[in-house]
Amino acid sequence: MSDVLPPKSGDPPAAKPADGDDPPRRKFDLPDTGFREVPKKWRKFYRHWSGPDDELAPNEVICPVCKVVIRSAREFRAGDKVYCMPCMTRMVLVEGDDGSLVAEVIY
Ligand SMILES: [Zn+2]
Repeated sequence: MSDVLPPKSGDPPAAKPADGDDPPRRKFDLPDTGFREVPKKWRKFYRHWSGPDDELAPNEVICPVCKVVIRSAREFRAGDKVYCMPCMTRMVLVEGDDGSLVAEVIY
């Protein structure tokens, strides 16, 4: 019996997925939440934020202007552009300090 020790050097670098080769995004159902500030067709893409205890799903982001939750049928990623219909603000999603996505207003 002999133990085989791993080599001390020459380990192959960890394989990293190439940029742009992202895994498929999760999809989400968007039930109508009764958000009345936009036409019926668009209501499912928004909901009211119920405060700091309101945990956002991966397909949700808060509009920094009007504090409405913007929802998508797919999970959000950094670089996504979103539009807040209630306050007509365009935003791009960026990764915050804690790794969560935050919306930055595009002026
Ligand atoms: Zn807004």
